[in-house]
Amino acid sequence: MTEQIAFTETDERITLRRQVAKLAGGYGRDYFTAQARSGGKTTELWREIGRNGYLGINIPEEYGGGGGGIGDVAAVCEELAAQGCPLLMMVVSPAICGTVITRFGTEEQKRRWLPGIADGTATMAFAITEPDAGTNSHNITTTARRDAGGWVLKGRKIYISGVDEAENVLVVARAEDSRTGRLKPCLFVVPTDAAGFEFTPIPMEIVSPEQQFSVFIDDVRLPADALVGDEDAGLVQLFAGLNPERIMAASFSTGLARFALDKAVAYVKEREVFGVPIGSHQGLAHPLAMSKIEIELARLMTQKAAALYDAGDDAAAGEAANMAKYAAAEAACDAADRAVQAHGGNGITQEYGVAGLLVAARAGRIAPVSREMILNYVGMHSLGLPKSY
Ligand SMILES: Cc1cc2nc3c(=O)[nH]c(=O)nc-3n(C[C@H](O)[C@H](O)[C@H](O)COP(=O)(O)OP(=O)(O)OC[C@H]3O[C@@H](n4cnc5c(N)ncnc54)[C@H](O)[C@@H]3O)c2cc1C
Repeated sequence: MTEQIAFTETDERITLRRQVAKLAGGYGRDYFTAQARSGGKTTELWREIGRNGYLGINIPEEYGGGGGGIGDVAAVCEELAAQGCPLLMMVVSPAICGTVITRFGTEEQKRRWLPGIADGTATMAFAITEPDAGTNSHNITTTARRDAGGWVLKGRKIYISGVDEAENVLVVARAEDSRTGRLKPCLFVVPTDAAGFEFTPIPMEIVSPEQQFSVFIDDVRLPADALVGDEDAGLVQLFAGLNPERIMAASFSTGLARFALDKAVAYVKEREVFGVPIGSHQGLAHPLAMSKIEIELARLMTQKAAALYDAGDDAAAGEAANMAKYAAAEAACDAADRAVQAHGGNGITQEYGVAGLLVAARAGRIAPVSREMILNYVGMHSLGLPKSY
């Protein structure tokens, strides 16, 4: 007998989505944009999802989490965004940092950092991007030098999200291999209040309370146990965080796309200019129907990627996570653009809050991995084409 494949989520996951949507709906887009425009933060929302166990739902129970999978935390991320509260730090703190520490941290490190990541009291940012290396993360120059039984870090990072709201940052640096003298990537947990650790906000056009920062790491001294996991397995450990990152980024985008589409649909049902709601015209209805299809396709691929990852199939999850992230970012860009168009002049006003979605959705094509690097991945790994860079 052929095995049945379930294309529906479990009752538990559906309930989780409903509960998160209800909680986030209590805050909503007006809260999110008001915080963004006044320089406020989303701390109350963050702490509330933490208290309710949603933030750390993917973190093992023995470290204060919910013992669920990446599919669960991705559902939380999507539902927040679908209520107009897309939280980038969900991608970073529980999914990237939480996964890396869970998989590679020592028992002591897991006990120290995971509970705060899970309940939102000790958020962790993630810093790999550097001004000169950009997409080519093999070229990062932040270095970690052994000194007096510990480490000294020096370098610069850029576009690092949420440093101001984080207690620690998981920093990717390069340490010298004592045998070969070559520099190898390693991961360090750096407290944001460490001496020599400075950060300044980058003015961005995204309407969000979460900001990006330039980070200056000037001879920051760290204890020996700031190094996460094995010094010789830095790349493997880093890659372990990439699939969760992409699955979460995809969920962030599908949530944002759903929010944009919901707004557009509600508007075109009400607005009349030729005696009928403008949604009666196919010129508006078809693009919105296309968005519905594109969003559902992206969600399906995201759920597939999460299911593969949670089943321990990292290789298959890698391909699916890249494809999901690509499809979700494209769906979000198109949905945001169509939502603006459907609103006419109102689409550009602050009052209707639609145009602000354009840049947020657009960022999904660039971060955490760009559209082009995903196409490079699929070209190479799925199609067997030569490496193009
Ligand atoms: C909102 C936001 C939040 C972010 N948060 C974080 C964070 O928390 N932590 C962190 O470490 N980083 C973060 N980033 C950085 C993000 O990951 C980088 O911006 C991204 O990886 C691209 O790097 P870059 O900006 O240096 O672009 P570049 O590397 O300069 O690339 C510019 C363009 O060239 C294309 N390109 C480059 N090389 C190739 C190639 N070989 N083939 C085809 N195209 C190519 C890229 O796809 C891109 O479109 C964030 C960025 C944004 C916008």
